[in-house]
Amino acid sequence: DQLRSRLLREQAITDGMEAALAEGQFEVYLQPKYRIKDDRLAGAEALVRWNHPEWGMQSPAYFIPLFEKNGFITQVDTYVFGTVCSQLSQWMEQGGEPLPISVNLSSVDIASEQLIPQILEITRACGLDHKYLEFELTETAFLSDSARTFHVMKTLQEEGFITSIDDFGSGYSIMNMMADIPTDVIKLDCGFVQSCTKTGRGREFLGQLIQMTNKMGFTSLCEGIETAQELKMLREMGCELGQGYYFSRPLPMNVFFEKFCRKVIDKS
Ligand code: C2E
Ligand code: MG
Ligand code: MG
Repeated sequence: DQLRSRLLREQAITDGMEAALAEGQFEVYLQPKYRIKDDRLAGAEALVRWNHPEWGMQSPAYFIPLFEKNGFITQVDTYVFGTVCSQLSQWMEQGGEPLPISVNLSSVDIASEQLIPQILEITRACGLDHKYLEFELTETAFLSDSARTFHVMKTLQEEGFITSIDDFGSGYSIMNMMADIPTDVIKLDCGFVQSCTKTGRGREFLGQLIQMTNKMGFTSLCEGIETAQELKMLREMGCELGQGYYFSRPLPMNVFFEKFCRKVIDKS
């Protein structure tokens, strides 16, 4: 019964996905990232939601694994990136303060020869400086085809984009590749804040991990910060950036810009 209902659900998602994209049912939410030492806004991450007319708002866990299997994730990710770029450029044209925004890449995107040309085309059309765009790739994705992944991430860096390792420490580890990894940011998975802030040994481990990340010249970011106490601890450990419900949940794009982004005052 379980298998049957899973297959039916997957079939319903597959049947509806193309129309959903065409009809704008995929919505981009933004979650702020903060500089921990002084609580200043440092950027945001774009996270997709499926606002389905019958099923309501669906979280990515519901449809992304299937889209990764059937390849549709690449179309969704291109849509998310295009939406982010056009909103960001509109915002900046209106005198809004520039802000780096990250999008998530899947290992399926990395395999596509079209990825880099498409990214370059979209940013050119929107007239955006590459330094405002960041690409997050999960640590596990580095393991499937590491040569290709290194190449793509390195190319993105060379083009002036920011690159991040997402969910670091949550699955299979790339510890043995750390010295050469083409990334700017290491996003420590939310599991670290949940499990390592509770015991002395855990705090020692997390503190050392953050120090190692910083000393290697990467930017350290902790995901999943939910309390003021966790934030205080991470500040003492020297973590540079933070993201989590303590600061804000992901918000619809327009709400995010209204709430967080001050307009630059026209001094002319
Ligand atoms: P992620 O990239 O690691 O995104 C962070 C996830 O943690 C988000 O879940 C966010 O809502 C959640 N989160 C943020 N702060 C907290 C907190 O304080 N506590 C807890 N418990 N959770 C927090 P979300 O939006 O459900 O996304 C889940 C995953 O789906 C993302 O993990 C990412 O891997 C994937 N994803 C989301 N949007 C996209 C997309 O456009 N493209 C691709 N390829 N993957 C996406
Ligand atoms: Mg991410
Ligand atoms: Mg993450």
